[in-house]
Amino acid sequence: MSYDKIEVPDEGEQITLKEGTEGEIEVPDNPIIPIIHGDGIGKDVGPAAQKVLEAAAEATGRSINWMRVYAGESAQEKYSENLPDETVEAIREHRVAIKGPLTTPVGSGFRSLNVALRQTLDLYANVRPTYYLDGVPSPMKAPEEMDMVTFRENTEDVYAGIEWEAGTDESEQVRDFVEDEMDFDGIMHEGDIGLGLKPISEKGSKRLVREAIDYAIENDRDKVTLVHKGNIMKFTEGQFGDWGMEVAEEEYPDEEVFAAPDSLWETQDEVDIPEDAVMVEERLADAMLQWMQLRTDEFDILAMPNLNGDYLSDAAGAQIGGLGIAPGGNFGTGRMLAEPVHGSAPKRAGQDMANPTAMILSGRLMFDYLGWDDASDLIRDAVEETISSGKVTYDLERQLEGAEKLATSEYTDEIVDTIEQLS
Ligand code: NAP
Repeated sequence: MSYDKIEVPDEGEQITLKEGTEGEIEVPDNPIIPIIHGDGIGKDVGPAAQKVLEAAAEATGRSINWMRVYAGESAQEKYSENLPDETVEAIREHRVAIKGPLTTPVGSGFRSLNVALRQTLDLYANVRPTYYLDGVPSPMKAPEEMDMVTFRENTEDVYAGIEWEAGTDESEQVRDFVEDEMDFDGIMHEGDIGLGLKPISEKGSKRLVREAIDYAIENDRDKVTLVHKGNIMKFTEGQFGDWGMEVAEEEYPDEEVFAAPDSLWETQDEVDIPEDAVMVEERLADAMLQWMQLRTDEFDILAMPNLNGDYLSDAAGAQIGGLGIAPGGNFGTGRMLAEPVHGSAPKRAGQDMANPTAMILSGRLMFDYLGWDDASDLIRDAVEETISSGKVTYDLERQLEGAEKLATSEYTDEIVDTIEQLS
């Protein structure tokens, strides 16, 4: 495909779908990978991640042919719109891409570009591995106990964007419909009211839970915890839990996946779980937030609706050192878009100070998806070694006695040097 403002690199091949498979990708050693640097600190961490990923690819006998694509402020400058069609098409066509954070206005203005990208490309699982890196300061006594992966449903829930603004005819029409036609007898206060819908579907819930269970099986994990608030939102969150347990019960043999009975209310101490089986259990979201801190080592893989996943993965990220460290990726069928958990942190933007680790480790997750395990390990080792030697960006330096504060670019060069030394 030819693009209007995107420059396709002269060299490199496209990642394609393996013939005869539904979602398996065929990865050349010189793939073309679209990259969005992002807004705010994206301008600092985007190029930094690019440099580190390039070094790790080269050290393992491969090359990345980057293709800059645009969203947010950079797209406004080039196209006078925030999310040009050709950006979405380039990512769709090239299958695997990486992006920095994009700014979303609060309360009014355009809808989240991140949510739009995830929905348009049907990247239904937001996956955030949360693991401790040696040397990173953490508020926890035993941060190394955290080794969790969160699977967040990425396309529906209150993020679907079905909302009506207070004071509009639309919100009054919806109120009338709910009160008169649906015989709603609860409280909706008089006067202006903002309203929204929370769709949770069987398809969306089941494919997310399936993805989490498959990951647990493939990666030798012990447990998948479905996290919801089904005691209050019975027909959305509760239904997510029921559909999730149905997947565990009906789609896998018992010796592979064990759906824990009544796990919401009963301890599973006495339950006879087949050896090597992945246990699938349910937990309520509010309780989960405290257990994650108090009984960190009991949790492994979490699968949740969109909003719970957003809250819980940020909280989990804080336990292993904060947003500057926490990586993520959005997965669909035969597609992946890597992105850090953090946002565009406007007050730190353009000052060559932000921590690029989260975006670098998101790239590591992308390498895992490409099957580049050696390059992925190299990145982890180099990041860990750099941080352990006390060379860190401002966010970690302010928590570490005797550490050396480096600019984004200096820290990036340290990691690249370490990659070269290790390889
Ligand atoms: P944020 O951008 O994640 O930043 C919050 C704070 O976290 C920063 O002020 C900074 O703390 C710390 N932080 C985040 N990333 C860091 C990094 N790489 N290095 C060092 N410190 C880092 O959250 P926000 O301020 O709530 O959101 C700002 C904008 O980003 C909003 O428009 C939001 O919608 C958007 N957003 C986008 C995404 C995405 O693109 N996927 C995700 C979340 C938010 P200190 O000030 O203490 O240094």
